[in-house]
Amino acid sequence: MAFDPSSKIQDLLMLGEFDGVNPSITDSSTYTFTSPDKMKEVFETEIEGCFLYSRHWNPINRYLSSALAELECSESALVTASGMAAISNTILQICSAGDEIISGRTIYGGTYALFKNFLPRFGIRVHFVNVLDINAIKHAISNRTRMIYCESISNPLMEVAEVPELAKIANQYGIKLVVDNTFSPMIISPLRLGADVVVHSLTKFINGTSDCVAGCVCSTNDFINQLTDINGGASMLLGPVLDSYRAASILKNLHSLHIRLQKHSTNALYIAEQFENLGFNVFYPGLPSHRQHDLMKQMMNPGFGFGGMLAVDLRDEENANKLMTKMQEERVGYLAVSLGYFKTLFTSPSSSTASEIPKKEQEKLGLSDGLVRMSVGIDNDTQRTFKRITNCLKQLGLI
Ligand code: PLP
Repeated sequence: MAFDPSSKIQDLLMLGEFDGVNPSITDSSTYTFTSPDKMKEVFETEIEGCFLYSRHWNPINRYLSSALAELECSESALVTASGMAAISNTILQICSAGDEIISGRTIYGGTYALFKNFLPRFGIRVHFVNVLDINAIKHAISNRTRMIYCESISNPLMEVAEVPELAKIANQYGIKLVVDNTFSPMIISPLRLGADVVVHSLTKFINGTSDCVAGCVCSTNDFINQLTDINGGASMLLGPVLDSYRAASILKNLHSLHIRLQKHSTNALYIAEQFENLGFNVFYPGLPSHRQHDLMKQMMNPGFGFGGMLAVDLRDEENANKLMTKMQEERVGYLAVSLGYFKTLFTSPSSSTASEIPKKEQEKLGLSDGLVRMSVGIDNDTQRTFKRITNCLKQLGLI
């Protein structure tokens, strides 16, 4: 039977401590013990239901983490204060000085900057390769390689990674496959396809209301315990703990994710088709013209569509800027970075979210100055939205 991540989350009955349908928010940085012996015991081993200090664990972060583990089909999960914290902590837990990473070259600009500018300061080297080119990946692996890193659907070019094949290679060489699944929660389940670790920016679709920054790591019990280990855990020692009030609000939003995603996807497919019909080059995995459309169909869980993200090439920066300004004036959505909000957001990646990638690299990747990335919202009437977009294009003489 087809896998349905939404029913997994719904099966998770969240019994609140005071019989509430929502778990109570734990407003404590530290927790009491009835005896010094018990405190010593908890320092030495994890005891179910016992908490020490909120940078380590607290009850509401546990609830949210358990729900995210259900979502991603992992044994365990850990919530963090941002998506970048989830990524950096995962990397620093797995890699030491002298180690190497093979990373997809079309990734979120912040991750690219972490890999290119920051990790080398700690002796970790990253090779950027085209993850669609399996031979290039094999060729880049050395005895120092610890990890293959990619985004399931890449930011901003919407390339779809062949997770089962990458997992096979990682397995063969005894290295980890880490997948950023921010663009496709529920739609793609990388751990079920063989990945070792999934990271998310919860800031995006999972929370869906653009009112906070948060992240998570989903993996085995062993890996999550390593991250939270009081003596050597990257998360415990670097300390990007998610605030408990935020964990509570994200948990509530998580329960409507399946409905929101269906609408994001339906709307995005319609808008992608309409732009394509007008003759624009559109990057959206739901279009038959997308190079990994068939691969995506093989990997995706049915029922949630192809996601809410698309990119359309307006050919040059001036056109892109004019269109975005006009679309904001005509109430299509907001000119803003980030994604997964209930309203449509648009940005020009080459000068914003991917600006960390040098211009020459951008050209090599096919990332045009005229690219407009859209995070399509959940408007009830998408046809009306596209009529507004058509008006903008007409007024600007772009069609
Ligand atoms: N991964 C992807 C694909 C992203 O788009 C982003 C942010 O835009 C991040 C990770 C980083 O997440 P955060 O901003 O929550 O730290």
